[in-house]
Amino acid sequence: MSRILPADGVEFGVTVPVLVIGGGAAGMVAALAAHERGAGVLVLERDALPQGSTALSAGLIPAPGTRWQRDAGIEDSPERFAADIVAKAKGEPDPAAVARVTQAVGPALEWLADRYGLPFSVVDNFSYPGHGARRMHGLPSRSGAELIDRLRGAVEESGIDVLCEAHVTALYADGPLVRGVEITRPDGSVEPVGCAALVLACNGYGGNRALVERHVPELADALYFGHPGNQGDALLWGEALGAATRHLSGHQGHGSVAHPAGILVTWATITEGGVQVNTGGRRFSNEAQGYSEQAALVLRQPDGIAWTVFDERIAAIARQFEDFRQAEAMGAVLTADTPAELARQMRIDADALAATLADTDRLKTEGGSDGFGRSFAGSAPLAPPYRAVRVTGALFHTQGGLVVDDDARVLDGSGAPLPNLYAAGGAACGVSGSKASGYLSGNGLLTAVALGRIAGSAAASAAREETSR
Ligand SMILES: Cc1cc2nc3c(=O)[nH]c(=O)nc-3n(C[C@H](O)[C@H](O)[C@H](O)COP(=O)(O)OP(=O)(O)OC[C@H]3O[C@@H](n4cnc5c(N)ncnc54)[C@H](O)[C@@H]3O)c2cc1C
Repeated sequence: MSRILPADGVEFGVTVPVLVIGGGAAGMVAALAAHERGAGVLVLERDALPQGSTALSAGLIPAPGTRWQRDAGIEDSPERFAADIVAKAKGEPDPAAVARVTQAVGPALEWLADRYGLPFSVVDNFSYPGHGARRMHGLPSRSGAELIDRLRGAVEESGIDVLCEAHVTALYADGPLVRGVEITRPDGSVEPVGCAALVLACNGYGGNRALVERHVPELADALYFGHPGNQGDALLWGEALGAATRHLSGHQGHGSVAHPAGILVTWATITEGGVQVNTGGRRFSNEAQGYSEQAALVLRQPDGIAWTVFDERIAAIARQFEDFRQAEAMGAVLTADTPAELARQMRIDADALAATLADTDRLKTEGGSDGFGRSFAGSAPLAPPYRAVRVTGALFHTQGGLVVDDDARVLDGSGAPLPNLYAAGGAACGVSGSKASGYLSGNGLLTAVALGRIAGSAAASAAREETSR
């Protein structure tokens, strides 16, 4: 229920300077930033425990020029990162939006580490497709659950109020000026809460089947792997207030979700030299292009199923991820000493699989690209014991959204900022352009953390001005 109601005559029992809708990474970071600027902040979260898609993610955040990269001898810069983002999305994203987040994210991670003790480190033992430098940063468990737990801990220790089971079901506005929100509690009671500035941090519309059908029809029937509470409220409220929106068909898919286990299988299984085959035992794509666009390709295979095939050396790298360890613990990762035995366990044609793996090994030793355009340069041939996971394609989150400026203020159709509305994370238009293939690994948390900090700071300043009037 994403309604806009007239604010006229509404008695707000409580009014706070900065209201933040959503308790994922974007909302928590925005709240910390606004609080540091001296603003009173209230985070409203529909769930009993703030988690969002952030908790479901691998918690990996790309950032250039950080001290962790310097310590590891990795050369990088915001400009290099920006060039990678623009190249992946074929020039679609607004260069100003790309510059904004690539410049802000490194300092934001160092701020979270220094001020709130988040122990980031850089993933320096493998490269993500499309990134020209090793710049993915994560917490020790490499899980989004740890990221959101630590952010929530920082918010609580800072004394910031987080109201859970507070589903925002409407905004109160005078024209484009937001005066407050309506929250609906689990018992059905409703309550108006006033604000001077509002940060929309309630992610995109991946959980809203009708909006996915409209904007991302190729994944209308795909498994949605993100947080179900992300129903597109920010988009719907923004549109009703006259906000500009962009790239609504943009999204992150993933072509490697263990099925039926429902666990993400890291793409390192591919980048380190693994392949995907269909139930006929044959490859069907250049997997190295990226996991996002691979979702629709996997879904086009018989039964919407593929097998990710790799080996123990690659599994050892993948094991640094909690998700992968869980998939192994659940028995989703098959193991066999020969391709024939692996095929038997996969219940696919043994000759076809053996031929596919032999072709791949030949490419690895002889060089060159396969018929799909994939080069295996630098990858070792697969060696026993072999591994395989049955996977499907899924929608992770949407990347289109509200257009914002350098202060994360939501803009209207003419490019002018709405008076007191901010957006961060999946609520805002990302930097992935209009296609799945435009998603560069980490673009999701990039805009959550970078724009979250910008939005929180700017909303605090705006609230101060508003209350001093
Ligand atoms: C499986 C998976 C793996 C991923 N891995 C990565 C990764 O490694 N790196 C990366 O960069 N990105 C990754 N992503 C994407 C990343 O998770 C998201 O881009 C990011 O978490 C978005 O943060 P957010 O704060 O905008 O949204 P969320 O974390 O989803 O938070 C939004 C919150 O808003 C709440 N909410 C929604 N509507 C309302 C309402 N009306 N009232 C009150 N509360 C509301 C929701 O309950 C939710 O808690 C992954 C996504 C998935 C699904």
